[in-house]
Amino acid sequence: MRLETCIRKGLRLKAHRVPEVREEAGRLVAEIEWIQGRELTCGHCSRRTRRVHSRRPPREWRDLSVRGQPLVLRYAPYRVRCPACGPRVEDVPWAHKWQRITRALARALAELSRQLSWQQTAAHYRVFGVSI
Ligand SMILES: [Zn+2]
Repeated sequence: MRLETCIRKGLRLKAHRVPEVREEAGRLVAEIEWIQGRELTCGHCSRRTRRVHSRRPPREWRDLSVRGQPLVLRYAPYRVRCPACGPRVEDVPWAHKWQRITRALARALAELSRQLSWQQTAAHYRVFGVSI
């Protein structure tokens, strides 16, 4: 299976795809794109819509490493035209609002932190200065 497909399935993406994964400065960067016509989620009320207003600059989220290489998801979120709230930034399915790490990495960090200190956990996953 291609790495792109593997990441898309792992994140259970329905409205987004992973056109490309490339190596950049010792880390893997997965580019994420919206599949036009699929429903996006309003970040404020969670209603779903296909109507977009504009786009935010690209953002990055740290994900679980792949074969020891840090994996980063890169995506420029849309501002959707929510029928209830107007233009709002979409809620991405792979991370909680404001988080810079994926739900999967947050879960893994939480699991490991039951056995190790936060410092040891952060060192293991090489994440520093992230809020969970
Ligand atoms: Zn809304």
